[in-house]
Amino acid sequence: MAEKTIFKKIIDKEIPANVVYEDEQCLAFYDVSPQAPVHVLVIPKTTELRSVNDVSEDNADLIGHIFCVIKKLAADLGIAENGYRVVSNCGPCACQTVPHLHFHLIGGRDFSWPPG
Ligand code: AMP
Repeated sequence: MAEKTIFKKIIDKEIPANVVYEDEQCLAFYDVSPQAPVHVLVIPKTTELRSVNDVSEDNADLIGHIFCVIKKLAADLGIAENGYRVVSNCGPCACQTVPHLHFHLIGGRDFSWPPG
């Protein structure tokens, strides 16, 4: 069996996280190394999706649900009105470090474009 990722260990409550939202399908917790005043990671509980490359019509309902949760969290955390970013790093060139699909919800400051 493949070794658990750090996110799977958080899902299984083997290591602590500052959880801000949880339901049967997904989990949201504060990033341990925040890049903005608000920096939350939203992840599916399934380990079958390692990145956006594994998204398909078969899991479209789950991905849609995750985006509904992201929208709700942005409102609950007070960043919806001024604006925020939703980022999913996919693969080595994009600096993905954890092979478990995750969406960064970041806000609370001004951002520049293009990203680094
Ligand atoms: P990425 O580089 O896109 O794969 O994002 C992985 C993110 O996970 C980084 O922003 C890390 O700071 C974050 N991270 C790693 N370990 C933990 C942890 N134990 N709790 C919360 N966030 C974590």
